[in-house]
Amino acid sequence: MSEEKSLNFIEDIIEEDLRAGKYKSILTRFPPEPNGYLHIGHAKAICLNFGLGLKYGGKTNLRFDDTNPVTEETEYVDSIKDDIKWLGFTWAEELYTSDYFGKLYEFAVDLIKKDLAYVDDSTAEEIAAMKGTPTEPGKDNLYRSRSIEENLQIFTDMKDGKYKDGKKVLRAKIDMKHTNMLMRDPIIYRIKHAHHHRTGNDWCIYPMYDFAHGQSDSIENITHSVCTLEFIPHRELYDWLIEKLEIFPSHQYEFARLNMTYTVMSKRKLLQLVNDGHVKGWDDPRMPTLSAFRRKGYTPESIRTFCDKIGVAKRENFIDLSLLEFCLREDLNQRALRVMAVLDPVKLIISNYDDGKTEELISENGPDEAMGKRVLTFGKELYIEREDFMEEPAKKWFRLAPGAMVRLKSAYIVKCESFIKDNSGKITDIHCTYIPESKSGSDSSGISVKGTIHWVNAATAVTAEVRLYDRLFTVENPLGEEGDFKDTINPNSLDIIKNAMVEPSLKDATAESRYQFIRKGYFCLDKDSTPGKMVFNRTVTLKDAWAKEVKKK
Ligand code: ATP
Ligand code: MG
Repeated sequence: MSEEKSLNFIEDIIEEDLRAGKYKSILTRFPPEPNGYLHIGHAKAICLNFGLGLKYGGKTNLRFDDTNPVTEETEYVDSIKDDIKWLGFTWAEELYTSDYFGKLYEFAVDLIKKDLAYVDDSTAEEIAAMKGTPTEPGKDNLYRSRSIEENLQIFTDMKDGKYKDGKKVLRAKIDMKHTNMLMRDPIIYRIKHAHHHRTGNDWCIYPMYDFAHGQSDSIENITHSVCTLEFIPHRELYDWLIEKLEIFPSHQYEFARLNMTYTVMSKRKLLQLVNDGHVKGWDDPRMPTLSAFRRKGYTPESIRTFCDKIGVAKRENFIDLSLLEFCLREDLNQRALRVMAVLDPVKLIISNYDDGKTEELISENGPDEAMGKRVLTFGKELYIEREDFMEEPAKKWFRLAPGAMVRLKSAYIVKCESFIKDNSGKITDIHCTYIPESKSGSDSSGISVKGTIHWVNAATAVTAEVRLYDRLFTVENPLGEEGDFKDTINPNSLDIIKNAMVEPSLKDATAESRYQFIRKGYFCLDKDSTPGKMVFNRTVTLKDAWAKEVKKK
């Protein structure tokens, strides 16, 4: 929270409320429905709600909005908690809307007693038919004039399980001609004989979102209830219910949801990708979920910086995925250890280097001295990147080619003398000589070369699997295309390299380690690694390979 930055519109409101003495302290909440894993859009809401709590000395609750018994699972509750902790936030209280089912039932009874709610026996189709349209008013039906006593009795019977699903609903009695369609006697309770992940079979009637949400805010004394723009039309109902129930006046404020290019964000759509096998799970590194970003090697800091940079808007827009990657590179550049890994190895043999000799070379771990140094071993046989050799070099080729010289990073200058191909024409060995006086740090050779390439020592290198990820969709807005959004899935979003050669220091990698494979990008250890086989994920490339593509358009 830099002092220089101007306030966002919600901060303006909070500062005004605090100045006017409307609240002693503020209380916000993050209210996920536990029906999927959190995505980067949720990170925006988390950073906003928890950020406001922190900034104004208030608190933030985590409330699971678990009013729908059918779609919610404990697995999702656990993953949501993990993700919020990982992002670096601490909630004041862990709460569940289902804990308020008793209280919400009482609120409903209170509305009935005030003649502000009634039981409707109509079918869903009949209710829809009487609702009118944005340009035509709706009509009252005969159930609307039921007596308070009759409503109280039937609602009790609904709770006691005397009716089947869909037979009756409880509706708020507002105005069937209201200009806001949501105010035309909205349904506030429905019958659903279903097992709930927390309340079991205690209830067979469940409150609708609009009846549960604002009331839960009020029960918790939430001062500023922040949600996304699609809830603007709901605000009138939110306020009406709080006013009629005469309960704590929470207020709702809306901001623009985060949309990001080359991905989809709705949990339902993400669930389809998982269920249809387009990805290997919710935490597949190609997904926009927080667990996927974490697995792929993103840092919580980079995501928080990103959420801060995009600000809090009142109008929907698309944020370029490149901005998130930019924040990530800035952060990883500070913390990632520089190591050498050869993704597509070809052998390089130094003919004038003694057989069996090994040498220890010192290499910096990173640009910051505090990152320290490590020992690399050098020997007669190395691996270099196949793409760093060109049989017939192009113009301005500064890497290896027949007769050309190149520096091996932190080691010596070598000159290519010859190379060997197998029957298929594939190069198998590159033979070089090295210049013994050219050792990095004490180079007295007087030779200057333009190219430096990375390498690993064949005698000590370790084989590893490396997974390279690309965008999951080929178009910026998969939902903006005609047809199924899944038709725009990028068929090349995952490239698995089975036999990369990495320097042995990587054997110490932990889940938290962050690496820059020099010249290749940022990488981290994947959870699929076993003691016998390391698996690395590419977190992000060094430069934005897509920036050029976008500019060309
Ligand atoms: P989804 O459609 O992905 O299921 P949702 O809004 O139904 O999203 P909830 O679990 O109800 O998901 O959301 C919890 C909170 O996160 C809500 O306050 C919601 O407004 C916010 N949120 C969800 N998606 C985004 C987004 N893309 N950008 C910002 N906030 C979001
Ligand atoms: Mg929702």
